[in-house]
Amino acid sequence: MERKKLEFFKQLLLKRKEEILREALETKKELTERGEPLPDALDQAARESDLAFELRLRDREQKLLKKIEKALKKIEDGSYGICEVCGEPINEKRLIARPEATLCIECKRAQERMEKIRGE
Ligand SMILES: [Zn+2]
Repeated sequence: MERKKLEFFKQLLLKRKEEILREALETKKELTERGEPLPDALDQAARESDLAFELRLRDREQKLLKKIEKALKKIEDGSYGICEVCGEPINEKRLIARPEATLCIECKRAQERMEKIRGE
């Protein structure tokens, strides 16, 4: 992929990451403002590190963040935009809609079919 395009996707990924983190921060703020007591373990963690911050990220957001981090690494090592299964370039329209994608649409569909069969 051309450097100009890589830079474009990098910005897209960084923006997405920022949005997720901002949303999580707002959730955190809301909880604090409402003065809801946190479970002890979580409260403890909150004092110790930003692990609690991570814990408060919803599961889906955490997964998405991980995917974004992975995609950013791929941009660095030059493997971004290549399907992890078949090695073909991922359609750019797909990448614009889902910059964190690591599979082309065909492989993604095949994976989802397998997951359904396995009942995941
Ligand atoms: Zn593929």
